[in-house]
Amino acid sequence: MKYSELCNVYEALSKTSKRLEKVDILSDFLKKLAKSKGDNKWIYLIRGRVLPDYDAREFGISRQLIIKIISKASGVSSDQITKDFNKIGDLGQVAENLMAKKKQHTLYHSSLNVEKVFTNLKKIFEMEGKGSVDKKVSLVAELLVNANGLEAKYLIRTVLNDLRIGVADSTLRESIAEAFFPDERKEVLNKIEEVYDLANDFAQIFEAAIKGKKAFDEIEIIPGKAMNVMLPVKVTEISEAFRMCGKPAAIEHKYDGFRVVISKNKNGNVKLFTRRLEDVTNQFPDVVSVAGKNIKAESFIVDSEVVGYDPKTKKYKPFESISQRIKRKYHIEKLIDELPVEINAFDVIYLNGKSLVNLPFIERRKHLEKIIKVEKLKVRTAEQIITDDEKKALEFYKNALKIGEEGIMVKNLDSIYKPGRRVGHMVKMKPSSRDFDLVIVGAMHGTGKRAGWLTSYIVACRNNKDSKDKFLEVGMVSSGLKEKESEGTTYKEMTKMLKPLITSEKGRIVRVKPKLVVSVTYQNIQKSPTYSSGYAMRFPRITVYRPDRNTSDIANISDIKKEAN
Ligand code: ATP
Repeated sequence: MKYSELCNVYEALSKTSKRLEKVDILSDFLKKLAKSKGDNKWIYLIRGRVLPDYDAREFGISRQLIIKIISKASGVSSDQITKDFNKIGDLGQVAENLMAKKKQHTLYHSSLNVEKVFTNLKKIFEMEGKGSVDKKVSLVAELLVNANGLEAKYLIRTVLNDLRIGVADSTLRESIAEAFFPDERKEVLNKIEEVYDLANDFAQIFEAAIKGKKAFDEIEIIPGKAMNVMLPVKVTEISEAFRMCGKPAAIEHKYDGFRVVISKNKNGNVKLFTRRLEDVTNQFPDVVSVAGKNIKAESFIVDSEVVGYDPKTKKYKPFESISQRIKRKYHIEKLIDELPVEINAFDVIYLNGKSLVNLPFIERRKHLEKIIKVEKLKVRTAEQIITDDEKKALEFYKNALKIGEEGIMVKNLDSIYKPGRRVGHMVKMKPSSRDFDLVIVGAMHGTGKRAGWLTSYIVACRNNKDSKDKFLEVGMVSSGLKEKESEGTTYKEMTKMLKPLITSEKGRIVRVKPKLVVSVTYQNIQKSPTYSSGYAMRFPRITVYRPDRNTSDIANISDIKKEAN
């Protein structure tokens, strides 16, 4: 298949904001892709990726490097390209203009095909160590030299992880249902959503759809791959918790660490994933070792909260301290001693070759207790009671808070495990706090002592589902980050993480791709015309950077409205 064919689809998708039109365009393309003798994995390209969603790695090619690549392919200087970029704000568009101009002078027919593009882009992930940057540059440059204007635009946008065609994973799922099951679209879409949450792999779903409906039943959860975890909804009263979860219900401590899915395949390979599907195996060799020794099963997927504690006092520490360990990729040995962690296992969803997702929670818990060999400050099962008594439940809640836990989780005993869903049969209850998880959408360069860093951050919440503007700004926050690394996330670190995300720059203000999530506390929220949400946080302060969260986890505009006065 020619790459230009795919680029025409991208272009058509970018021209409409109507969801149904997008589904039509995509389903036509999917039917063609199914007939072409290509690889099912090419479907990843529709969302600007070459890897399945369970593999969260990104190309990691900076804007600066892209400018170099465009310069190499077009023969135009990097300075000129930077100037064009500052004017247009889209390197893809810059590449399109330059490559189209260049190709006008030669009688040019693009020879790029999807296979070549996919193979080269995939190779980027194999490049590591010395000289790898040059090799990555060559892989992209080789494609760009052979691209026409439109191809150049989408190639560059793909590598920058910024396709701008407005296709969410839900649109793609709908398009698969529409393409292959037009007469029973709704019913099959439900099935597709269910199995997608198990597989996190569009190629697998696409392949099953081509084979026929029955093939979906063969899709199973497998250890060793990241998976979307089940999430709770929030309640404020114990009575509400019981109303939602039934009586009796299981009540557990809600630990303040970070969610880790621990999986071991039958070859004994242990892997750790966050709820953002990031592989954190290398950051936590201590957890890998404890899981290997103390979880007694040939293969498993255990859902857990990993909590840090003070090595001297043995007291548990809040998430903020452990977040350093998630970020640290090198020299981790020292940090392991300084910030040891304990696994609090609360569910098991795969055991000895079999998926347990369809077992009732109470049965899964029994399996969990059987396989975990509890060892103090290494691994334990979540503290749990089963009761139908509101008084007892409230006592358990108060006690959890007294010993410093975040609150409680209440769980229906008969419910199955639904990966990837906020479900009504598991609820969280904790004291209302004055902070929100928000995403950074812009930043401002500091001055004076803080010159050279981005030191103020424009933060945003989510809009309600069906709107064009996905994120709405609620304030600018400049306090809370640290000067020294030992105290938490620093301005310098934040700047380093934000720079590759910059999409445009105007004076001291930069706009960034919405990716980094921070918890922000504030004094109060007021109506305000300054920000696109119509609300502004007063005296906001970042309490912690949340590397384990993504934009689907942040506060909604309705949450903000509720707190406004
Ligand atoms: P927010 O501040 O937005 O309420 P949160 O972390 O409390 O953030 P959720 O992510 O919805 O909100 O809460 C569920 C999280 O609680 C899980 O993802 C998991 O990391 C954690 N957790 C702690 N203890 C448990 C437990 N016993 N069972 C299930 N989840 C638990």
